[in-house]
Amino acid sequence: MTRDDLPAPRPRLVLVGNGMAGMRTLEELLKIAPERYDITVFGAEPHPNYNRIMLSPVLAGEQTIEQIVLHPLDWYARHGITLHLDRKVERIDRVRRVVVADDGSEAPYERLLIATGSTPFMPPIPGRALDGVLAWRNIADTQAMIEAARTRHHAVVIGGGVLGLEAANGLSQRGMSVSVVHLAAWPMDRQLDAAAGALLQAELERRGLRFELGAQTEALLGDEQGRVRAVRFQDGREIPADLVVMAAGIRPNTALAEAAGLRCERGIVVHDTLQSVTDPRIYAVGECAAHRGIAYGLVAPVFEQGRVCATHLAESGIGRYVGSQVSTQLKVSGIALYSAGNFTGGDDHEEIVLKDPAAGVYRKLVLHRDKLVGACLYGDTSEGAWYLQLIREGRDVRGIRHALMFGAAALAS
Ligand SMILES: Cc1cc2nc3c(=O)[nH]c(=O)nc-3n(C[C@H](O)[C@H](O)[C@H](O)COP(=O)(O)OP(=O)(O)OC[C@H]3O[C@@H](n4cnc5c(N)ncnc54)[C@H](O)[C@@H]3O)c2cc1C
Repeated sequence: MTRDDLPAPRPRLVLVGNGMAGMRTLEELLKIAPERYDITVFGAEPHPNYNRIMLSPVLAGEQTIEQIVLHPLDWYARHGITLHLDRKVERIDRVRRVVVADDGSEAPYERLLIATGSTPFMPPIPGRALDGVLAWRNIADTQAMIEAARTRHHAVVIGGGVLGLEAANGLSQRGMSVSVVHLAAWPMDRQLDAAAGALLQAELERRGLRFELGAQTEALLGDEQGRVRAVRFQDGREIPADLVVMAAGIRPNTALAEAAGLRCERGIVVHDTLQSVTDPRIYAVGECAAHRGIAYGLVAPVFEQGRVCATHLAESGIGRYVGSQVSTQLKVSGIALYSAGNFTGGDDHEEIVLKDPAAGVYRKLVLHRDKLVGACLYGDTSEGAWYLQLIREGRDVRGIRHALMFGAAALAS
């Protein structure tokens, strides 16, 4: 056998971030070009890739960690992928084209995919370093919360958005007495209008949650052992807390990219091909990427990015990622809500509203120049996907306006 008979070495692809966006991209890539790259994955967590959004049912005791694993270890082995778990990449050397991990090991690349996700934002509240104060992002945080619920009694969740409410529900299911502290006048104010927010609040209160709305946290107070014992508000009131969960937003993990000189503005700035604008060998997908000024914090858009990115990595890419129209749901059993687009309206906007408080049903559609631009549904969300499709398509709805409120089925009748 001569040297010419040896197969040419494959280009090396390194993925930094063994999470939902990066791994979805690899999955799509393997579908269309399984032999193209020699692939190495670095993951800072000690687990194979799992379905992060299902940490909510795990916290609520409805699922186990084993059930939410997306790619078990043998999946990586079957696809010939070198996997480094519990290994954080600390540096990208763009001149030598290698990444350097926290144990000093290096991996060279021809293509690099950064999918480092986000970190929870910890508001600069005095006392946030106390024992018993945590944020919720991964399996370790979930296990810490489950453990705390065994021995502690009063949980306070700071932030009444989707993540905060799912944390509150899970801790309540685990037997804790839970208060949700939220600056706005109703929970999920970024996804729901006041009427839907009030229905949600009433239902969660019926289930035992308490709300501190319009409340500004001034400090977290500790005991002599350095453990959190109470939350103090700006008006001087205090409520007991031996577990505090911060759910006050996320920040894209861009430190690694920034240190490597990649342009970052709220995220790693990428083209429609998901290539970083600074270095065409480097791609970024997921919550760490900023596309047309937006860093998404939901799984549907980051999966759309993954699909497009995979085609470009496969060098068969004609697709462009042009941004996503997002929708929101809440993963609390027995509560159905859905919101998409501009549900607050504004000048020149029309609203069509159906309200049946006794039945717990609320439906608001927002139209602008004969197009559906937003929907906010509570109680019955069966038409959510249809409304999202109409919003995405920007379709003229004049001809179906009479049936709009009653859903796609009403069109046929
Ligand atoms: C509890 C919870 C519930 C959620 N529910 C929903 C929901 O219902 N619907 C929805 O759309 N979204 C939901 N989300 C958000 C969703 O999980 C994220 O949008 C999605 O995970 C983003 O994918 P990502 O790959 O960008 O980030 P991640 O999934 O966070 O993956 C990033 C990975 O990179 C690793 N990493 C970071 N830096 C390095 C480094 N330097 N070296 C090596 N590895 C590194 C991280 O440890 C992490 O494992 C939820 C999130 C949480 C926490």
